[in-house]
Amino acid sequence: MSFQVFGIAVSRGVAIGRAVLVASSRVDVAHYFVAPDEIQAEIARLLRARDAVVQELETLKNELPEDAPHELAALLDVHLMLLHDEAFTGGASQWIVDRHYNAEWALSAQLEVLARAFDEMEDDYLRERKADLEQVVERVLGALAQEQGDAPTPVTPRDFAGEDPLLLVAADIAPADMIQFKRSVFRGFITDIGGKTSHTAIVARSMDIPAVVGTREASRLIMQDDWVIIDGDAGTVIVNPSPIVLEEYRFRQRQSELERARLARLRHTPAVTLDGEHIELHANIEMPADAEAAVAAGATGVGLFRSEFLFMNRDGELPSEDEQFEAYKAAVEAMKGMPVTIRTVDVGADKPLDRLTVNELRHEHVLNPAMGLRAIRWSLAEPSMFRQQLRAIYRASAYGKVRLLIPMVAHLSEVRQILETIKKVQQQLTDAGHAFTRVELGVMIEIPAAAVMLPLLLRHVDFVSIGTNDLIQYTLAIDRADEAVAHLYDPWHPAVLQLISQSIAQARAAGKGVSVCGEMAGDPDFTELLLAMGLRSFSMHPSQIPAVKQRVLRADAQRLAGALPKLLDSEDPQATAERELAAVRAAPAAAH
Ligand code: PEP
Ligand code: MG
Repeated sequence: MSFQVFGIAVSRGVAIGRAVLVASSRVDVAHYFVAPDEIQAEIARLLRARDAVVQELETLKNELPEDAPHELAALLDVHLMLLHDEAFTGGASQWIVDRHYNAEWALSAQLEVLARAFDEMEDDYLRERKADLEQVVERVLGALAQEQGDAPTPVTPRDFAGEDPLLLVAADIAPADMIQFKRSVFRGFITDIGGKTSHTAIVARSMDIPAVVGTREASRLIMQDDWVIIDGDAGTVIVNPSPIVLEEYRFRQRQSELERARLARLRHTPAVTLDGEHIELHANIEMPADAEAAVAAGATGVGLFRSEFLFMNRDGELPSEDEQFEAYKAAVEAMKGMPVTIRTVDVGADKPLDRLTVNELRHEHVLNPAMGLRAIRWSLAEPSMFRQQLRAIYRASAYGKVRLLIPMVAHLSEVRQILETIKKVQQQLTDAGHAFTRVELGVMIEIPAAAVMLPLLLRHVDFVSIGTNDLIQYTLAIDRADEAVAHLYDPWHPAVLQLISQSIAQARAAGKGVSVCGEMAGDPDFTELLLAMGLRSFSMHPSQIPAVKQRVLRADAQRLAGALPKLLDSEDPQATAERELAAVRAAPAAAH
């Protein structure tokens, strides 16, 4: 039966493929394909791991002391029974044969299928056996990890014929796991949780694959292997589409591929408005390797290197100074003399260091993480970690143009502490004989307090970067990762527009650099608005650069600026913008 699920559109385009349901706790299981000639060996690997667990449990059972409660032996029997059940290894083996999944993936796919069957059972006792099944899977995954050496060589889907594209469906995905999917097999994402600028959505956008988040129950309604269409423009998911609908979406998919190819031709065209204003289109990156995509997309620098992703997936161990230095240097070298803006670590809120999802974090750990110890607050609370990161960033400055960006600044006292730490770090580097050059210092404008007192902050810094994702969140008191209030997360809110517009004007008046690096900068619907406000530097995911560039090339910055007062005075800025900015577009271009 065909049905639709509605969510929030976060990454554009159409993806068509089969659903892969992944439990949030299983997202970090390795997902890769096995070559056809390795399928039998992979099944054997799975069975060996199963047998090892059987052996382990049997030994445990035989060695149970006389006085052990008899429930314990019964429990071990249940686990052994599950391990021998054909639906368990037989089902998992089938995923390996049919879909070429590696053993770990096959096992978690089968767990999803069986867990659902358990959920639907009437009998309480049987329903509760789901927990046993999960424990058994956990054990087999553990046994598979023990014999990593025998794991097959991963192959990409293109290496064998007949595969269907795969779309990931999960209740939620932690940003730390999301980053591992960057080079993954999935061509689209659907999650129950999240908002337009939650970090999971941001990473999906950086991967340039369609995604819909905040669907609330997609992971419950969609079945493993269902055919699914993700409409990343409308924020809808169509499950088991009819052939006519499928054909319609295949057509749209082809159209958007053609449009992309057309826009890609703008790569070498400088971003200059009709009235001759040069616009910087910089890239937001999460890993040094992303710099390659930035250059390929025609970025003229990196406006935001979210360094926190270097700190994730490390089992609590932080990256050393040398490791960070190598990462920053790699990004700087890849950008070949173009500026690289490295933001100091911004963990906390919906970006925990470990693999927690937003929900886990909210419910189990911190009362209100978005307002807690995150970003610069965390760095200042961990001075040696902060100095280490600053040293690594300064050392990278010997290899190109590095700029330092501090997230979530709200107090002048924080800026003073940062300046003092920088002085200390420069001295340490000089003493140790490390080379470095001048590094411009910038702060992010993400908290309304920073925007309101910007003239004071500007006395101490070289540039500012407006983080609209958080600025909207904190101005409107809307958790950016909470789908329940996503409809109130409004970049067009008059208060938001006032803060952005004032910040740009004040920074320009002070002769300081100003850019926007939040998601608004990469959304072509806001390009003219930001140009009208006087913005000349935008930073976004590389994949968004061509579409924004196209808007820039067709814009007349001076005439757009003329429409701004009406817009800022409007009670419905979005409607006014549509009317006023369209009028600028329609009017014959003036000679300049
Ligand atoms: C922002 O808040 O707009 C921003 C760019 O930072 P992040 O999305 O990483 O919080
Ligand atoms: Mg932010």
